Amino acid sequence: MHAEIKESNEAVLCAVCGGRTFSYISALTDELTAEWDLSRDEREYIDRQQGLQCTTCGSNLRSVALAASIVQAVEVPGPLAQWATNVNAQGMQILEINEAGGLHPILVRMAGHQFVAYPEFNMLQLELPSESYDLVIHSDTLEHVSDPVQGLRECRRVLRPGGTCCFTVPVIVGRLSRSRDGLPPSYHGAPGECRPDMLVYTEFGSDVWRFAIEAGFKSCTIDVYEYPAALAIRARR
Ligand SMILES: [Zn+2]
Repeated sequence: MHAEIKESNEAVLCAVCGGRTFSYISALTDELTAEWDLSRDEREYIDRQQGLQCTTCGSNLRSVALAASIVQAVEVPGPLAQWATNVNAQGMQILEINEAGGLHPILVRMAGHQFVAYPEFNMLQLELPSESYDLVIHSDTLEHVSDPVQGLRECRRVLRPGGTCCFTVPVIVGRLSRSRDGLPPSYHGAPGECRPDMLVYTEFGSDVWRFAIEAGFKSCTIDVYEYPAALAIRARR
């Protein structure tokens, strides 16, 4: 595997911790790039999304985009780490499905936080009571769920009316979403590792919003932290 590590001097502010310095590790394999039919530009921005990391808290750009979306949802300036300690935030009921990257260590310290791991916990049929959470959070998990609309339907069901689901999936903005049904199996994760829970069912494109609407959410906002490398999806019940 080819890994390139370099310091970044770009002006990115970490929405997780407020840090200002980032380093970059290229992680996308040639194999995955071919399976996904990525152009050079697409590979570059997906690599940046996964590989640009805050040197203070370790969050990658996708986690930063998700944190920025969450602070928008709760209408505070951020960063997430600062919001998480305030009284209002501590009173919120938050469901995290699968470890949401660099957000996880912050979320676990919140009083109303509940964590469920995928695939041990079935996202298509969450064994959780309806209308129980103010926020549902997941990061790069939905592409590994066989029926993404049903997964989001479950997120909506457990949210209180007015609650929000904030999540990320890798999005290729220049194309429409496609199912990998009938295509050779493609896996995310470490090179050569073919874990069943890392199998990709859906490759998301610019119509990613429609999955949330079809799941019954009344609105879907694409929060842009950096285009096109760092997008997060915010769906309101
Ligand atoms: Zn950070």
